[in-house]
Amino acid sequence: MSELLSQLWTPELQAAFTVVVVLLVILYVLSIVWVVRDAYMRGTQWYIWAIVALVPLLGVIAYCLLRPPLLQIDRDEQELEIALKQRQLMKYGECATCGYPVEADYVLCPSCHTQLKNLCGRCERALEPSWTVCPYCATPVAGAPQQQRQRRPRPSGSSRPRPKS
Ligand SMILES: [Zn+2]
Ligand SMILES: [Zn+2]
Repeated sequence: MSELLSQLWTPELQAAFTVVVVLLVILYVLSIVWVVRDAYMRGTQWYIWAIVALVPLLGVIAYCLLRPPLLQIDRDEQELEIALKQRQLMKYGECATCGYPVEADYVLCPSCHTQLKNLCGRCERALEPSWTVCPYCATPVAGAPQQQRQRRPRPSGSSRPRPKS
């Protein structure tokens, strides 16, 4: 049996075996490097994944299955995109009456002529309907809820509380 083995275990085979082992070791080291680099770029705790990657083959497979789906750069880009969209939404809205797209400083809806904003009587800037005072020049807004409250009928002579008889 040992004779057969020594016959099979030729120097050529030994060399080939060595090459295969070296290649496997290089592949193993590269896989660890890749996992650490990828985990770092994805903004995860790369040192934990480095320990996982030390398990030959299984570590890399586990990382491929469980790694976070987005690269850190992609995530930053997505966050930027969302912020940009939110800013656009702030600038452009919809008419509450007809749904026509309107810009933030529109005073009237161009489609159904609904009043979207009040105009300041003094500086003529567009004001939100809920504002009771102009934030630019501190002038109270005419027709604002506060003003309406003041317009309530004041107790006149007829409505004065009468002494009970
Ligand atoms: Zn409208
Ligand atoms: Zn004003």
